[in-house]
Amino acid sequence: MLKTDTTKKIRLNTDRLRWSAEGKKSGPVVILFVGIHGNEPAGLAAVDLIAENLNRSPRELSGSVYAITGNLGAIKQGVRYIDADLNRIWEMYNTRKDFSRINGITQPAEYSESLGIKQTIEQILAKHKNDTSEFIFADLHTTSSQSCAFILLNDTLANRSLARKFSVPQILGIEENIHGTLLSYVNNLGYKALGFEAGAHHDRESVKRSEAFLWLLMHNAGVLELNAEEFSKFKKRIRAHAGVPDTYYEILYHKLVEDPEKFEMMSGFENFDRIEKDTPLAYEEGRLIKAPKSGRIFMPLYQKKGHDGFLIVNEVSEFWLELSAYFRNSFVHALLKYLPGVSVGSKQSFEVDLRIARFLVKDIFHLLGYRVTEKDEYTLICYKR
Ligand SMILES: [Zn+2]
Repeated sequence: MLKTDTTKKIRLNTDRLRWSAEGKKSGPVVILFVGIHGNEPAGLAAVDLIAENLNRSPRELSGSVYAITGNLGAIKQGVRYIDADLNRIWEMYNTRKDFSRINGITQPAEYSESLGIKQTIEQILAKHKNDTSEFIFADLHTTSSQSCAFILLNDTLANRSLARKFSVPQILGIEENIHGTLLSYVNNLGYKALGFEAGAHHDRESVKRSEAFLWLLMHNAGVLELNAEEFSKFKKRIRAHAGVPDTYYEILYHKLVEDPEKFEMMSGFENFDRIEKDTPLAYEEGRLIKAPKSGRIFMPLYQKKGHDGFLIVNEVSEFWLELSAYFRNSFVHALLKYLPGVSVGSKQSFEVDLRIARFLVKDIFHLLGYRVTEKDEYTLICYKR
């Protein structure tokens, strides 16, 4: 494994471990993923700029930084993925399902990519388990639509406290709608993890914003210290435009697409654009798709790979969030089983019968920090995060 400190040059390479930098003092370990989608080069460029900068002007690091390259095969071809989306298959490590066969393909390319990434994570965790108290993960992406920068996070209090340090829009609870992400896998290991989306795939600003996010992340984590001028420069660089408040957003709706070849998003939607209910949004197999709810359009699909057509998000009030933080560690959990339609699933989960339980049930479980998924038409499963 490459090893370096602030006086040694960081060596870039095109293997799984792109580079690492180790400070003389111990401290947090920051682990960065770039190129999990092969058609998103901004993150790769940004981590390389950081390495070059650290080589040119060495800084004192407390702790370590690792940059891990994602889908090596897809990056070479400049495509999102080859056989399966590398950011949707991580659930296989938590279930007994055989994922060596995905989408009818035996041993898909992304299966071995995921094994390579998993192994690298495990090596880093093993190496530092005795010299750090904190591992922080971040996964860098870009979108097919035009967008300002934003952060995606699984809704845990630890993630929230880290994410709050960045003044960009923050999307909570992505794990309820998009399954099998690398972030969820890392969260399940018990570590903080943020997704940073920098903007459109080939917008030059996306590289600049990714780089700014990385400096701020290292600063906020305590691995290095930016001076006041640098800090405000980077903060300004990732800031969203005035129409998109840098608050929390929740996901109201998720349009899944069976066959992206047959899905055509109407042109002109930018991420976070406000939409009213019934706004025409897309065509699927010639059929017009209208917005089922009012809110803001989120991650409209303008490429022919991927199954998330679009989502609709909305701002969440600060009050609701503070209330939920307060309740998460409270005694109220013990009372949940007395709600109508609620039964105890396992030690960590409840089942909700929607034929009996009425409005607000999902909200109550969210408030208390549960992850809510649909088992079938009539049943929700609520897992304690
Ligand atoms: Zn991506």
